[in-house]
Order: sequence, then C-alpha cells, then structure tokens
Amino acid sequence: MSFRAEGSVSAEERRGNSGAGNLKERCQKKSAEIIAAISSCLPSGKEKYALHEPAFAGKEWQYTKECLDTGWISSVGKFVDEFEVALRKITGAAAAVAVVNGTAALHIALKLAGVQRDDEVLLPTITFIATANAVTYCGAVPHFVDSTEETLGVDPDKLEAYLEDIVQRESGQSINRLTGRRIKALLVMHTLGHPVDLEKCAALCQRFGIELIEDAAEALGSEYRDRHVGSYGKLSTLSFNGNKVVTTGGGGAILTNDLELGRTAKHITTTAKVPHAWRFYHDEVGYNYRLPNINAAIGLAQLEQLPDFLRRKRVLAERYAQKFRNVDGIRFFSEPQFAKSNYWLNALLLDHTDEEELLRDELLDRSNAAGIQTRPLWEPMHTLPMFHACPRMNLTQAESLHKRLITIPSSACLA
Ligand SMILES: *Cc1c(COP(=O)(O)O)cnc(C)c1O
Repeated sequence: MSFRAEGSVSAEERRGNSGAGNLKERCQKKSAEIIAAISSCLPSGKEKYALHEPAFAGKEWQYTKECLDTGWISSVGKFVDEFEVALRKITGAAAAVAVVNGTAALHIALKLAGVQRDDEVLLPTITFIATANAVTYCGAVPHFVDSTEETLGVDPDKLEAYLEDIVQRESGQSINRLTGRRIKALLVMHTLGHPVDLEKCAALCQRFGIELIEDAAEALGSEYRDRHVGSYGKLSTLSFNGNKVVTTGGGGAILTNDLELGRTAKHITTTAKVPHAWRFYHDEVGYNYRLPNINAAIGLAQLEQLPDFLRRKRVLAERYAQKFRNVDGIRFFSEPQFAKSNYWLNALLLDHTDEEELLRDELLDRSNAAGIQTRPLWEPMHTLPMFHACPRMNLTQAESLHKRLITIPSSACLA
C-alpha cells in the first residue's frame, strides 16, 4: 500500500512524466526561450560557441619565433622577465613570479603564507578543484565556507559569525575548538572574475589573526574599489590556462607586495639554486615550477592585448545584461557594486523555484546540443569524495548557487 501526503509530488511527477502542467514541458519551453535570448546576443554564422576561446591576434608568433631562433625556449630568458614586469604593471603588485600553472602558484602562496601540516585553511566550497587541492599539497585541511549571491564568492558576514562561534583564540592564533587545529589562512576566490568583498575579508582576517590569500586565477583585469584584485591578500595567484582571460598555454603567477616574499617565491620555484657561474648548490628543497620562456613569450603578447580583451568582454556582458532584463525567471549576473569585473565567464542565475535544478539541466542539455557551450558551476568541494570529511560551515547559499547558475559563451571575439 502506498501512502502519500496531500499535495506532495512524486519523483515521477518531478521528472515530468505525469501530472498537470507538465513540468518537463515547462522546462523545455523556458529553456528554448533562454537559449534564443543567449543566441540573439551572439554573432551569427558560427557552428560552435565555446565558453571561452583564446585569441592570438597580437605578437604571439613573433615572440615565439624569437625564442626558437635564439634557442631561449626553456626556464630562463628575457620573456619571463618582461612577462613578470608586465604583470606587475597591470596588477600593481610589487612582485610577480611566473610559474607553470595556477595550481603550482597556489601551492607556493599557501606555503609562503605559513600554512603547515595539519593547519586548516578556510576556502569557498564553490571553487575550481585546484584551490582545494593546493591546500592538500601543503598537508593542510580544507575547511569549507559558504558563498554569497552578491559576489558568488566568500560571504564575509556569515563567515565572521561562524568563526565567532567555533574559534578559540590562543596567543594571537585562531584555533578551531571542534577540531583542535589552527586556522591559518582564508583563501578567497574571485568567482568567474567577480571580486569578493576584499575589505571585509581583510578586516575579518585581521580580527582573527589569519592570513588572507587571493586565488585570482579567474580575475586578471578585475578591480575592487579601483584597485586591481590580488593586492589585499598577503599573497595572491593568477592562472594563464587556455581558457582564462589571458593564456600562456599553461601558466600561472604569484603576486605579493612583500618584496622579501617575492624573492623567496622566485627562489623556491626555481629549485632553490644559489646563483653561481657553474656550481650546483641548492640551499633548501625547492620546486621546479618555473614558467618556460616560450610560454612567457606567448603570455607577453597576450598581456599587450588585455585592455582590448577586457573592453570587448564588457561589450558582450552588457549585451547579455540588456537582453536578460526582459526574460522572466532568470537574471544575468552583474558585477558587485564595489567592483569592476573582467567578466571572465558570463553567468545566468535562475530564480528560486522547486524546479530550478531540472530547468538548469534541461538548459545545459539543449544549449550544448545546439552548439552553444554552457556549464554549471563546479560541484561543491565538500561533495567530492576526497573532501567529504573536511570541516565545513552551513553551505546553503553555495548549494543554491550551484543549482541555479550556468555559464555562457564569453570569448572576447564574440563582441
Ligand atoms: C584556473 C583556476 C586555477 C588554476 O588552474 P591551472 O590550470 O592550474 O592554471 C585555480 N583556481 C581557480 C579558481 C581557477 O579557475
């Protein structure tokens, strides 16, 4: 015998196989409307619209050829130096160290911030896997934090209330009363290029005696209160993977305003070799995380085009924003009021409904089938098997954002 409460919905009806109003049909209709709206913002005539494709319209060929012609293709060379200078100029950071990828940059930034084995590092559960993995490389424990719909990143108010609850202060340090471990750092991430509220995060870190680190992998060109992101944290990191605003094929960078930390970052990412004409002497365990000159050559050519990439990405974002003002049940995610975002990946946010997840999946299925590449947010870190047992706060906003957000084509060339 089956028993159902009045007004309850069976799994069958949820899937839209029966029932009045037919849920599946509603989702299909809404998806078609949304896809038509996305489509109307894109230039016609392309078979496929990637989420983010690189553009090499600058001096990439010229600089790469110079590497090959001169033989300077590997771990040192003038393009590495020039790339680092250009990064300093763009971000305002006192030191920039180019490395093989953004994950390696995070590993070293955490290490230099003093993160040690069995420390806890606070980080958003909504992030790309690299952020959490890098914490693990240090032998530290990820401690997952909720996000806010205002920025898509760490919610500093909610985090503050949580820390008041769980933290015990001991000689200037914050100890998690529930685990007995030291909370050493807060690693924020500027989601899809939208800055978190850095002033609030910095104040919070100050109050609790923890280090602030920024994973700015997605946020090259983004500003928080007229200052490039990456300068509020003790250290911050960038990525130049193929899908980022600027690419070196693979690459990353460590930024800091602390020149001493900058020197150490350079030293330990280049095998900790003490400079000498012919002697191989290394004064600590270092890492071979150097960015090859040939990658830096591409990166330098890319950075020269950054203002143009950013301008075009804003044009596209504005086009989406206008369009989606007139579409019910969904909104285009615009930059937080205190920020100027790079709009790395444009995002749409579905309204809260009982059918939000169904509609999201329908949208993802149909748009990708139609050649318009879309993606959900990353699966929240605390749901992955290797991070299941990690400490975490209440994560309701992050879970809601994950069910409602999709990213849509965002390449500069689409403007
Ligand atoms: C891309 C990215 C990274 C670094 O990725 P790499 O592929 O190692 O360069 C780190 N964190 C976030 C949030 C990213 O999006």
